[in-house]
Amino acid sequence: MGEVGGFVVTQKRVDSLVREGKKVVGIVSDGEEIRAKVVVIAEGVLGLLAKELGFPSPPAPRDVAVAVKEVIELPRGEIESRFSLEGEDGAAHLFFGALTSGIPGGGFLYTNLESISLGIVLRMESLLASQRSPQELLEGFKSREEITPLISGGKIAEYGAHLIPEARKIPSGLLVGDGYIVAGDAAGLALNMGVTVRGMDMAIASGVFAAKAILQAHKKGDYSKEVLADYLKMLGNSFVFEDMQTFKHLDKLAREPRLYREYPELAVGFFRDIFSVSKGPKERFSRTFMRWMRRAPSFPRMMRDLLDLGRI
Ligand SMILES: Cc1cc2nc3c(=O)[nH]c(=O)nc-3n(C[C@H](O)[C@H](O)[C@H](O)COP(=O)(O)OP(=O)(O)OC[C@H]3O[C@@H](n4cnc5c(N)ncnc54)[C@H](O)[C@@H]3O)c2cc1C
Repeated sequence: MGEVGGFVVTQKRVDSLVREGKKVVGIVSDGEEIRAKVVVIAEGVLGLLAKELGFPSPPAPRDVAVAVKEVIELPRGEIESRFSLEGEDGAAHLFFGALTSGIPGGGFLYTNLESISLGIVLRMESLLASQRSPQELLEGFKSREEITPLISGGKIAEYGAHLIPEARKIPSGLLVGDGYIVAGDAAGLALNMGVTVRGMDMAIASGVFAAKAILQAHKKGDYSKEVLADYLKMLGNSFVFEDMQTFKHLDKLAREPRLYREYPELAVGFFRDIFSVSKGPKERFSRTFMRWMRRAPSFPRMMRDLLDLGRI
């Protein structure tokens, strides 16, 4: 980096932005002012620096989920045998249903070479309303019969908690200004896809676009909002804004508690009954189906959910 005139400062917190009028001209860290032609604000979901620029930060509970995760150490051979893995292969499992007690969210488990990462993601707004603690739900998840044998004998090496932006609609006009660009989670560039959380790819892409826009500005010798707005054009022409547009209706459905309680209970109950061997004569599958359907949400409700599903 030194050869091309750059340097990296790690383990330092940026305390505030330096502004001259509307223009951002640098940052302050530990009492020291560092000036720059452009500041890229990529501070993640909390957006405490972006707040100085009028961002709606920190995000509201309805716009975020909280994830709690443990990294559990186990010998590599043990992980390979428990998950039937070979060589550099890994396994990733996703869970939803009873483990979140009706709170929109889910669980995840993936293998590393010598550890297992296991966690639970919960919509903050519903979690607060439920008065449950994420730790209590994580312990419940770990004690499920399908999870316990996978982690037994392991040693907890790390515990972490982090917010995930789920539905932040930050006006794109706020993402650039005179002397600054906002990228990644700080810019609300993340997507809850229901089955997966996306944000890493968008953070990387927005970082690349920020660099390209700054290069253009550097060539023109002009770091104004108008020139840095190339960043927005690049986001607009990329998968980032397109995917956020394509899946804009997903958030409404993903908030629906029925998805995490009633529907999984119906599916599990129906399949448990048709696979079980009963003491007496077995009822027809159609009767089992109708018996479970009587417990289903009302028909108009299910149609509404189906219509919402059809929009994503
Ligand atoms: C449990 C979990 C699972 C996820 N799974 C996936 C997944 O499978 N796929 C996917 O694409 N995405 C996933 N994501 C989302 C993804 O991690 C984020 O979208 C991505 O990391 C955002 O990158 P970022 O650089 O914008 O922010 P961050 O990764 O949050 O990085 C911001 C950095 O800035 C630092 N910082 C903050 N404030 C300051 C300050 N004032 N001064 C100095 N430094 C500061 C922070 O310490 C942090 O290191 C997941 C997130 C979580 C929590």
